[in-house]
Amino acid sequence: MEENKIVVLGAGVAGLTTAYLLSQNAANNVTVIAKHMPGDYDIEYCSPWAGANYLPVGAQGSAHAEYEKKTWPVLQDLVKNHPEAGIHFQDTVVYNREKDKQSATGQWFAELLKKEPWYKDVVPNVYAAFLNPFDVKLTLLQFRPLPADQLAAGIDNASFFTSVCINTAIYLPWLVGQCRRNGVVFKRGVFKHVADAANAHHSGKKADLVVNCTGLSSKKLGGVMDDKLYPARGQIVIVRNDPGYMSSASGTDDGEDEAVYIMGRAAGGGTILGGSYQKHNWDPVPDPNLAIRIMKRCIELCPSLVQEGQGIEGLDIIRHGVGLRPLREGGPRVEKEKINGTWVVHNYGHGGFGYQASYGSADAAVKLVGEALRQNTQAKL
Ligand SMILES: Cc1cc2nc3c(=O)[nH]c(=O)nc-3n(C[C@H](O)[C@H](O)[C@H](O)COP(=O)(O)OP(=O)(O)OC[C@H]3O[C@@H](n4cnc5c(N)ncnc54)[C@H](O)[C@@H]3O)c2cc1C
Repeated sequence: MEENKIVVLGAGVAGLTTAYLLSQNAANNVTVIAKHMPGDYDIEYCSPWAGANYLPVGAQGSAHAEYEKKTWPVLQDLVKNHPEAGIHFQDTVVYNREKDKQSATGQWFAELLKKEPWYKDVVPNVYAAFLNPFDVKLTLLQFRPLPADQLAAGIDNASFFTSVCINTAIYLPWLVGQCRRNGVVFKRGVFKHVADAANAHHSGKKADLVVNCTGLSSKKLGGVMDDKLYPARGQIVIVRNDPGYMSSASGTDDGEDEAVYIMGRAAGGGTILGGSYQKHNWDPVPDPNLAIRIMKRCIELCPSLVQEGQGIEGLDIIRHGVGLRPLREGGPRVEKEKINGTWVVHNYGHGGFGYQASYGSADAAVKLVGEALRQNTQAKL
């Protein structure tokens, strides 16, 4: 049988997940080529900086929401059956303040903070079921609104559910390992034009197709040059303190693009304190003043982060970080097109939801790869 020679350009969560799904079909012979690989920390490489959790933000009925919906069962399976992937369940509380509605962060979280969001039936009480299917008390862990008398002053509504947090330092290498086990070859390379990547397949022959997973870099990549892409700068502080649950709110009083969220990475990955959602801001350097505001806000949101009476001096900092979320007007681009005679399937522009949409989006990209390869075959006949 003739094999499909495929190059996946990019080794972030989008490229690795797409390569992993492609490699599950023995007919696909896949090379992953990228400027940055797991283990690197760079402002041009978003994936290592993510929390990363599953807090759905895709508007009901959108392709984005569909990607998130399809991703949950896979993440859940990884938690239950693949501890080596570095993902765990976390109890989650999200808070909404109506006054944040028009802010950058309020709009980002509009779906997440609805009283009846679409995902309430997607993240059922799996944690409870997993822990102890017979203990009725544990069903309280189902998605539910917090009772009004438990809401702090200024909070208009809040929900509680079970989500996951991914330790990206474990999970990205895990994806590389899964791909390698299926025969995927990894190489470093930097390309000025997307079609040039077709010449870098490890077989030495021209690839039949390139999957473009270059994230924000698709803004300046030859053959793509997508003007709809822009960064949403996310600054974080990673600490050793562990409050034991995940929490997030619609906004802060420190600026409409300053966020507040906390999540504990699996397997000793530390706790991520965030953050910011600064659109069109490319600054790669952590802002020390913003870092202080982030830490103060997180303690306010979740006092159990530090010992009673302590402020930010009670935080044990591992590192500060900045990542640029690859946001795209109109949502992520999962499309196929011929560029300079080469089939290219795009899978980029996943903003702040690259992990939580990863399997749904990669699955859609894999379907487009199949369509394009079939068109190639028909053209040859
Ligand atoms: C602070 C922060 C928190 C986040 N939290 C979450 C979260 O909780 N949940 C969630 O789902 N998402 C989260 N995200 C978003 C998520 O990290 C991104 O959506 C995701 O990482 C994007 O992945 P990607 O593979 O598209 O891009 P990237 O990770 O940026 O990878 C791009 C790849 O393409 C390669 N590349 C680019 N150009 C070229 C070229 N010309 N030649 C060769 N290679 C090239 C790069 O080297 C790299 O390998 C967060 C992001 C940030 C910054």
